[in-house]
Amino acid sequence: TEQAQAHAHAETEAGTATARPEDVIEVRGLTKEFVIRGAGVRGETLRAVDDVSFTVRRGTTLAVVGESGSGKSTVAQMVLNLLPATSGTVLFDGVDITTLNSKDQFAFRRRVQPIFQNPYGSLDPSWSIFRSVEEPLRVHGVGDARSREARVRDLLDKVALPQSSLRRFPNELSGGQRQRVAIARALALQPEVVVCDEAVSALDVLVQGQILTLLNDLQAELGLTYLFITHDLAVVREIADDVVVMQKGRLVEYAGVEEVFASPQQEYTRALLDAIP
Ligand code: ADP
Ligand code: MG
Repeated sequence: TEQAQAHAHAETEAGTATARPEDVIEVRGLTKEFVIRGAGVRGETLRAVDDVSFTVRRGTTLAVVGESGSGKSTVAQMVLNLLPATSGTVLFDGVDITTLNSKDQFAFRRRVQPIFQNPYGSLDPSWSIFRSVEEPLRVHGVGDARSREARVRDLLDKVALPQSSLRRFPNELSGGQRQRVAIARALALQPEVVVCDEAVSALDVLVQGQILTLLNDLQAELGLTYLFITHDLAVVREIADDVVVMQKGRLVEYAGVEEVFASPQQEYTRALLDAIP
């Protein structure tokens, strides 16, 4: 229940006194520099993410939007703890994720799940749908084979895929069906946060709408928190509560979705909005 959650939170928060219980992810002054080694002798430093701060409230969706190369995926990788920051911090439930020991790191992986864009929607093309959805359960030692199968079947229902999909392979499914499988896999371990990096970008507009509806329904049902990365402001309007606009690694606008669409503060955001068909 919500109360139990708040209680558990108060316990884990004892002593940290940083995050508010409703703030599940806090990004503070996050910066990432890459050293680019080209034909020249010396490496050149690229600041891909430059002093970015934002907060993702529990049960809501924060969209990070910006054109290609603005640093969105780099932010996602750092929030997932897959890439170390040059400076700044990511707090998950008030705890700096870079300070987690390996046991807590394992638990973190369970609580914060990614969905990426790639031709197979973060699925291994050589794995059956059953294997793809069951694997996180197996890795995390959840249940026996029988209960895992029941869980996988339940997840398939949740994302509205027929049970017959279990024996199929990603290339036998449509793009939208593959993203449904990727969602089922991401939800297998009952995460609190799902980081979606261009999760619907490869889909045509109709299918995109169906997947966004599914994500919205799942959020309402399960109380999920989304960090939703996209280059597409039309998608933002469908899913976001709060919006961060990035340009060349910097955060240039940060507000509620209605505010951003009704009265964008930055020339850059206005230009992005004008580009929506
Ligand atoms: P976006 O997701 O908004 O398209 P990215 O975060 O992927 O942007 O990239 C931001 C910038 O950082 C780009 O200029 C990109 O080329 C650069 N970049 C990303 N990853 C690396 C890397 N591993 N090494 C060097 N440069 C990188
Ligand atoms: Mg990207």
